[in-house]
Amino acid sequence: MTANLLDFDLEGLAAFCETLGEKKFRATQLFRWIHQKGAADFSQMSDLAKSLREKLKGAAHLQGLPVITQHESKDGTIKWLFDVGQGDAVEAVFIPEDDRGTLCVSSQAGCAVGCRFCSTGHQGFSRNLSTGEIVAQLWFAEHFLRKHLNREDRVISNVVMMGMGEPLQNYSALVPALRVMLDDHGYGLSRRRVTVSTSGVVPMIDRLGQDCPVALAVSLHAPNDSLRDNLVPLNRKYPLAELLDACNRYLEHAPRDFITFEYCMLDGVNDQPEHAQQLVQLVRRHGGGGVSCKINLIPFNPFPASGLLRSAQHQVSAFAKILGDAGIVTTVRKTRGDDIDAACGQLAGDVKDRTRVGDRIAQQRTVMLKQVPAAARAAKEIQEP
Ligand code: SAH
Ligand code: SF4
Repeated sequence: MTANLLDFDLEGLAAFCETLGEKKFRATQLFRWIHQKGAADFSQMSDLAKSLREKLKGAAHLQGLPVITQHESKDGTIKWLFDVGQGDAVEAVFIPEDDRGTLCVSSQAGCAVGCRFCSTGHQGFSRNLSTGEIVAQLWFAEHFLRKHLNREDRVISNVVMMGMGEPLQNYSALVPALRVMLDDHGYGLSRRRVTVSTSGVVPMIDRLGQDCPVALAVSLHAPNDSLRDNLVPLNRKYPLAELLDACNRYLEHAPRDFITFEYCMLDGVNDQPEHAQQLVQLVRRHGGGGVSCKINLIPFNPFPASGLLRSAQHQVSAFAKILGDAGIVTTVRKTRGDDIDAACGQLAGDVKDRTRVGDRIAQQRTVMLKQVPAAARAAKEIQEP
């Protein structure tokens, strides 16, 4: 098996080029061909010596992800379902806005954390994506969109690791992928425009701060441990006090001077005024000085197996007002791509889900997974290097 060059950050590619007896600077040329120009074939790389192109053909390949489906929403949102083999699929979603283009990227097929309100969590965990599979989502989307939108300049200005999976439970593949996104010879995205979203894998938050500090979003969803234990099972391992301590440590390295807390609004579960008041106390009082943050309220995207409902609009507004009155910058996320099931937590994980015949299999799989207590599953499958 030859090497897939999408698996390498620039340093890795330089090391690979050295094994071929090539100078390091060749790696930069090659890297630019792949990521900036979207070349998928060594023969296109016209300024590389023919001998090098021949050598590459024998030792390496460029393997993207096959697209199973593509859906474009009325609002311009585009969702791709990519085949990652063995019946698993992951999704990436492009969200255009006036001043930016954001790509939401997946890090795992399924997820082991098992949050109650998340359809990926309900599917259980299949496997980690490789660096190349994470990068392939951006590689494909950027170069597809340039053609689709007839643009020569960069289309994707922001990446959020908010697709399927818990990125900090796939740390060793994540970090090189982030480096490809940030590299000036790659996608040249600023650290502020690349966001890792996590349900709270505390030790990995610390490592990310050391290794590759990008913007951090933390999925909070509850203002106290007993509720969060129930919604985000990982909380039993890393409770709120530890999580917020880690957020404060991260802020010393972060490219932004705040953490974004995500809070999914669940009718009658975590959306009451007392929850908002507790949340104010939590982020204001924690450790004495509080945590510098913004809070993003996410309208829950319902799916039948969750047994949960979206909070009413007036409930969301009342909640936001309590936070706002306490001086906490609060936004309510617009849902995008609703008509193509591209909104948060609606991302499908199994190719079989997409076929009528597969519906029963998918349902059976959900039932089976439900029989395994979510916490046990999370504890068993949490993989920290
Ligand atoms: N595993 C990471 C990143 C992927 S989930 C994390 O949990 O942060 C990205 C965001 O979508 C998270 O904030 C998550 O809580 C939210 N989310 C998941 N399911 C959702 C749903 N059904 N409705 C709304 N938001 C959801
Ligand atoms: Fe995993 Fe995030 Fe979904 Fe929780 S919300 S199950 S951590 S993908």
